Amino acid sequence: METYNNGILFYHDKAGQGDVHEIIGEVTKPLSKMIHHLTVYRSLEQGEIYQLLTEKKHQYDIYLILGGDGTVHELINGMIDGGHDKPIAILPGGTFNDFTKTLHLNPNPVRAAEQLLDAELRTYDVLRTNERYALNFAGMGLMVENSLGVNREVKSKFGKFSYLFSAIKNVTNPKFFDYEIQVDDKQYVGTSSMIVIANGQFVGGNRIPLSELSPNDGVLNVFIFKDSGLKTFTDMIGEKSEVNWNEISQNIEHISGKQVRVETKDTIDVDVDGEIDLKTPLHVQVIPGKLKILTAQVSTLFS
Ligand SMILES: [Mg+2]
Repeated sequence: METYNNGILFYHDKAGQGDVHEIIGEVTKPLSKMIHHLTVYRSLEQGEIYQLLTEKKHQYDIYLILGGDGTVHELINGMIDGGHDKPIAILPGGTFNDFTKTLHLNPNPVRAAEQLLDAELRTYDVLRTNERYALNFAGMGLMVENSLGVNREVKSKFGKFSYLFSAIKNVTNPKFFDYEIQVDDKQYVGTSSMIVIANGQFVGGNRIPLSELSPNDGVLNVFIFKDSGLKTFTDMIGEKSEVNWNEISQNIEHISGKQVRVETKDTIDVDVDGEIDLKTPLHVQVIPGKLKILTAQVSTLFS
């Protein structure tokens, strides 16, 4: 077991998992075995964790977060912008969280906290997207349109992305946009309904069935959805175990690289790890091994 002298556990009041105070009490039991001085910090509003981390008043040996995608996004941006090159632990906050799957963590935060006791530190890439950092993805087009139409309550109840992608499944007339993309030194031009730039294997709670996708290989992956790519994509990330990769590859262009620049004819919104606050043009660069995150041993019980 890795042990730490000082640690801080952030959580948000509206983490969406019932009585968050009770859960905090439960998760601190296993955590106190590995962290001698554990500070518990309740964030009352969005931006508070980022502010605290970038003020750099206190230093800790490990930074933990209990929360969904939004709070994790805030933590990693605060860690990087605040220059904290320290271990991170992410506990799933009831609302949907893509990255905890990559970390092999149980969706129950108390079980996940127990898993941390024999977890190991691994380094992960991040995506620098304009002025922000993302762990999971940046995307534009259909996913953003759908997300804006769904209220926050519904999203947190069902899991933002599961809901999103089930909504995408029902779209019959997607809007298209003209794009110019440069991946490393190659240029691509066309019309698309959705572009996703992914760091690892999971987008929207679903595993992209490409074995070479990895969040620690120093490579990002661009998926450009063509005309009829949506149905095949939702099949691909849906429950079907048989995936017709030929059909998918005809409708979804997949390009790997280290840097991407996306320009669209009209300015459109960009979703970064579930937060829609950027616009095109978008520049994304993979920063290899930027974060150290506690990763559970692969357990056959929860897979
Ligand atoms: Mg990668």
